[in-house]
Order: sequence, then C-alpha cells, then structure tokens
Amino acid sequence: MTEEEVQKITDVVCPFCGCLCDDVEIDVANNKVVTTYNACTIGTTKFFSVNETEHRFTKPMLRKNGKFVPISWDEAIERAAKILLNAERPLLYGFSSTSNEAIGEGFKLAEEVGGVLDQTASVCHGPSVLAIQDVGRSAATLGEIRSRANVIVYWGSNPSAAHPRHMSRYSMFVRGFFREKGAKERTLIVVDPRNTDAAKLADIHIKVEQGKDYELVSAMRAALRGIEIPEMVAGIPKKDILEVLEIMKKAYFGVVFFGMGLTQTFGRHRNIDNAINLIRELNSYTKWIISPMRGHYNVTGAGTVWTWQTGYPMSIDFARGYPRYNPGEYCANDILVNGEADAALIIASDPGAHFPAKSIRHLAKIPVIAIEPHITPTTELAELILPPAIVGVETEGTAYRMDHVPIRLRKVVDAPDECLPDEVILERLTQKVRELKK
Ligand code: SF4
Repeated sequence: MTEEEVQKITDVVCPFCGCLCDDVEIDVANNKVVTTYNACTIGTTKFFSVNETEHRFTKPMLRKNGKFVPISWDEAIERAAKILLNAERPLLYGFSSTSNEAIGEGFKLAEEVGGVLDQTASVCHGPSVLAIQDVGRSAATLGEIRSRANVIVYWGSNPSAAHPRHMSRYSMFVRGFFREKGAKERTLIVVDPRNTDAAKLADIHIKVEQGKDYELVSAMRAALRGIEIPEMVAGIPKKDILEVLEIMKKAYFGVVFFGMGLTQTFGRHRNIDNAINLIRELNSYTKWIISPMRGHYNVTGAGTVWTWQTGYPMSIDFARGYPRYNPGEYCANDILVNGEADAALIIASDPGAHFPAKSIRHLAKIPVIAIEPHITPTTELAELILPPAIVGVETEGTAYRMDHVPIRLRKVVDAPDECLPDEVILERLTQKVRELKK
C-alpha cells in the first residue's frame, strides 16, 4: 500500500466513553481503519471494530422460524412501525451511545406511539440525576479542572479501567494553565473499598467499607462543622478523615469525580445528595466542584436533549399523550419486571447483557426491535433488526461530553452495505407511524 493511498484524518472524537477524547488521529485506506493515534485500547478497539463485518448486521433482518432473513428497509420500517403502534405500552430504551440528533428523534417516536422512553442512566447515574435535581451542584468543565485543580478525588470510580485517558487528559497526569508541573502540583485521593488501579496510583487511598459511603460523607460534613466524630467511621480512623479534610480545606481548586461505587451502592441518590452538600460546605473554605463520571459516550446527551424537549431526562411516559416523569415507575426495568411492556425498541444499548434476569425473561416474551450493528445478547431476543451506521466512525453526529460540553463527532469510513444512521432510521419510523395513524 502506498503512502498516497492512506488518508490521515485528524481531530477525530472517540465515541466510546464520556471523556469524548477529541485528539484522535486515524489512518484510513480502502475504507478500513489502518492505524489509530492517541486513543486508549478501548477506543482503538471500537475504531477497528468497523473493519470486521462477520458479526455485523448490514441489512435489515426479520426472524423467521428462528433464523434471521434479510428484508428490505421499506418492509422493516413498516413492520417496526406496526409493532409499536399495535402495542399498548411500548418501551423505547437505550440511546446513550448515539447522537443527540437520534436522541431527539427518539422522543418524537415515543410521543407518536404513546410509549415509555428511557435511557441507560436509569441503571447507572440515575441517582446522580435525581440528587442534582434536588440540590443542584457546583460544576466546572474538564478544561477548567485540567487548568486549575490541585486536589483530585475519585470516589467510587476507577478511571484506569472505565475512562482510561481521564487522568492523563483532564485531571491528575496533565499539565494545566495554572498547573504547569502537572502531577507534581496535584494530590490524588481515591475513595474505594477495592485496591483498584486508580487506588494504586493515589497519594491517599481511603478504603471505605463497602456500602458505607453515606456514613463517611456525613462524618466529614460533621467534622467540617467542628462536631466531634467517632474514632472509626465506615472503617476509616478519625485521624485519617481529619487529615483528608485538612487537605481538602487547603486546596486551591478541588474536584470530586464520582462513579457507580457511589450511585449504585446502599444509599444511592442520598449518597450523591450528601456528597454534593459536602462540596457546598467545602466552598465556604475554597473552590470545590463535583462531577459524575459518565460512562457511555453520550449518556449525558440523552438526558440533556430530552430535558430540552420534555422537561425530563429519563423514564418518561407518554401514555396520556403528554410527558410524565417518575423514575421507579417508568424506568425500563420497572415496566419490564412488572410485565407492563408489550413491545420494545432497543437502540444503542444492550439490556440483554446487563438487565436483571426477570427483565430479560419478559423481553423474551414480547416483540423486540433492535437498532444494533452487532450480534449481542439483545439481538438474540429480537424479532427485527434495523442495522445502523456507527456514530462517530461511520456517520457524523453531536454528543455531550460528561461535563456537558457538546462536541461534533466525525465520520472516518463509510458504513457497510445498507446500514443507515440511527437518526434516519428513527425519522423514517416516526413518519411511517404517522402515515399508519391517518
Ligand atoms: S478515554 Fe474514553 S473517549 Fe478517550 S480514547 Fe479511551 S475510550 Fe475513547
């Protein structure tokens, strides 16, 4: 292959995790990804995944006698529209690994079919969303954190595994405008019951007892107000708690990044509420902010776009023709476990791999439409497959980084065969539903 045949594409955004690293460079030849630069191993794997079409759906597929057979897009769209229209309580779920444009189209479809619209936050950072709605939060962009932060706390999150470039691009191991010496000027504190890779890098590892985060945050808040705390809280000696608090009080600019170790353990949204209030109180001493470590690359976008459109970020029911919001009643798992959903459209997520067995057992009983490029546990349950182009690799789109900064994703190769962008698939489905309703 000559050098001329290889095209270098710069400023590519990685569509994998909420970091949305926008400094990736990719060499492409003959519509294949040849080399990636700057992406971590997870991001690199995603870019290279488009070279392989053996386990890929490249045409719409209908399950007949237990096997998938290809059908035309017109037939697939009509079948999908009828499934959703004929259902009394269709569920539209996923949306966190697609573009804002597709997320917006998902709302229109849910409204037309009177369905329940939910996204993956309901099983990850949903408690953060609820807590932030309750008490607000002190926030900053990742750029500001990179420039200013000198005390960095990861609480219940392990960026080394889930967001591999987070520490090197935005927090600990990067030089910033006011932190020219990078890590030498920063202190890393990790609060985690496990000896994670991030904990091994930390200056201080607070090995909190599993599920006792609420107690630890409460003790820190009490100590901050001068109240005497017990000798041992959540497995941490009082002297260690006071030592960490002194570091936090003396920070120039501090940040707490929190993950599912805080949102999905005992206490859930009350943990986040409490942690946000700790940060609020620390702001009496110095500048502190708190930020969720969002997983899927556009889970932030799903909540943001639906909030513009309906006022609500997730778990939205359109059964009465207008949006109603009640997490705990309209989350995907609630309506599956309760056996309410009688059809499901799953996009940009894999509940078949991640939902509890009772939800999956119900999914297996109802017609499932999967907008999904690859063979997954969810497609094993599906009756109809609508094959999408992969956003950020095979088609453009906009996504929100974990700090709510919108970033335009680039296309680097053409999608195979008949794959269409999610946005186009959802738009066509909505049009067909409107036609059939006339
Ligand atoms: S850290 Fe996340 S966004 Fe950045 S390259 Fe890795 S997977 Fe992609």
